Amino acid sequence: MALRNIREMGDEVLNKPCKEIKEMTPRLRELIEDMIDTMYEANGVGLAAPQVGVLKRVVVIDVTGEDLFVMINPEILETDGEQTGHEGCLSVPGKSGIVTRPNYVKARALDIDMQPYEVEAEELFARAICHELDHLDGHLYVEKVEGSLVDVTADEEEDEEE
Ligand code: ZN
Repeated sequence: MALRNIREMGDEVLNKPCKEIKEMTPRLRELIEDMIDTMYEANGVGLAAPQVGVLKRVVVIDVTGEDLFVMINPEILETDGEQTGHEGCLSVPGKSGIVTRPNYVKARALDIDMQPYEVEAEELFARAICHELDHLDGHLYVEKVEGSLVDVTADEEEDEEE
């Protein structure tokens, strides 16, 4: 298991657009495996490559702890509805804010073997997809917060950071 250092807000790598992935390589596979380890170790529900300093279009998401999605070159195809709730980010530790997102998302991506698939997501999973894809375009959820960011104390910290 190899953990990578999670970049925090203020690090300019988090504000840059990521490049499309053309082919799977051993180095890229290692990156993805490290991202998965790093996400679970940090109790996150999602992690995007720029959060570990790599400007490539790949995210990993697992909102239940047993349903891992590797999404390479992900794209949102459809959205529907609305949900308003707390959101956090591993790159903005100790903070949380209210963000409105679609309640339903249909997305397309490539898996770790570069095979295309589609996924339909609702609620937290839909929120995580939107949050992680924003990272790939250099955006953080703090840009979308309604009101202000609030401090989350250690004992009430939710396991929903992305
Ligand atoms: Zn995030």
